[in-house]
Amino acid sequence: MKLGISELFRKNSKKEEAPADAALGSENTEESMDANTRDEKPADDTVNCPKCKQTFKKADVKENMNVCMACGYHFVIPADRRVRFLVDPGTFRPLKCKVAFSNPLNYPEYEEKIKSLQEKTGMEEAVYTGVGKIDGYETVIAVMSSKFLMGSMGMAVGEKITNAVEYADKKKLPVIIFTASGGARMQEGIISLMQMAKTSAAVERFNRHGGLYISVLTHPTTGGVTASFATLGDITLAEPEALIGFAGPRVIEQTIGEKLPEGFQRSEFQEEHGFVDQIVPRDKMREVLAHILRLHCKRGK
Ligand SMILES: [Zn+2]
Repeated sequence: MKLGISELFRKNSKKEEAPADAALGSENTEESMDANTRDEKPADDTVNCPKCKQTFKKADVKENMNVCMACGYHFVIPADRRVRFLVDPGTFRPLKCKVAFSNPLNYPEYEEKIKSLQEKTGMEEAVYTGVGKIDGYETVIAVMSSKFLMGSMGMAVGEKITNAVEYADKKKLPVIIFTASGGARMQEGIISLMQMAKTSAAVERFNRHGGLYISVLTHPTTGGVTASFATLGDITLAEPEALIGFAGPRVIEQTIGEKLPEGFQRSEFQEEHGFVDQIVPRDKMREVLAHILRLHCKRGK
């Protein structure tokens, strides 16, 4: 029996509700500050730390940049709150880059899914882009959100990242991209894979023109995003204990039939192996980025 691509997807659509690299995504969902953990359901205003197992008031953890006060575990942080902690107050403005929705494979229920996520997250897509000042230095900032279809990269994400880099190129500004992604967006098939080449080409042009690109890898940065712009930074930073890799550890273990070493693909492992320049805890991120911008920006503030 001959099946077209969209029929093949449709055939499997029941079990494939999550985006590409779903196995990676499921690791992350229980860590969300907005979703309660899957094992025990704490009261609505409390949250359990998956690392030290202690229970805290949600408001206190939020106040602490979504970082556990006891063990330093980094919960997922919504893109808009990350920007708020990062930029000088009142300096951030979003970049206008509206990408019309398209469903190249006629993937079942894709449009409904996107619409409901837009309502739930307040984001147009899995990345948020804009321009703001960090300690007085004007910078283009893109922040991906794992809460939007696991931060998977389809046409809109690819276009927004490309647009942000091209804007920085034109205005001679540095670029900082916070990555969080399960990889390519399978609902868009080959179109999603093409975004890897498109974003990489934009970064390359920016690089040739002498632009500074700082990549900040957050949990989880995997798949096609790792294999494109996430790892093309002039400087690569990472949040502590973030999962950073191409295929997820479970997929690799199943493929090679071996147990992987302790801490494999976590930020600390990647730093030790030269993949990451520095691990920066969330409360130090603004300070470290400001320092790098100060060293690199010729014209000053
Ligand atoms: Zn903890």
